[in-house]
Amino acid sequence: MTSNPIPREKIPWFPTIDGEKCTGCRACLEYCQHGVYAWNEDTCAVEVRQPYQCVVGCSGCEDKCAAGAISFPDLNAIAEIIRKLRNGS
Ligand code: SF4
Ligand code: SF4
Repeated sequence: MTSNPIPREKIPWFPTIDGEKCTGCRACLEYCQHGVYAWNEDTCAVEVRQPYQCVVGCSGCEDKCAAGAISFPDLNAIAEIIRKLRNGS
């Protein structure tokens, strides 16, 4: 028996940048290998461009942000969402 993979877009795991704290240092952009971040030429700031490219459970870029501007959802809450999706509820 095979189980269908859960569509990535149903799992709300990705970083959020606090624009008040962000210094625009680009450390997150340079660190992430999955293309989640991008430089927005219009706002002259880093943005979360491809949130669903983020690896579920990864929070590696959070530690790279000296300004403490990056946050993630509660991992336990995400695990519960995944459990419910697997159970079809
Ligand atoms: S590492 Fe932090 S301060 Fe630097 S650009 Fe990313 S979010 Fe902004
Ligand atoms: S958590 Fe990992 S995959 Fe997601 S944006 Fe940060 S470094 Fe990239």
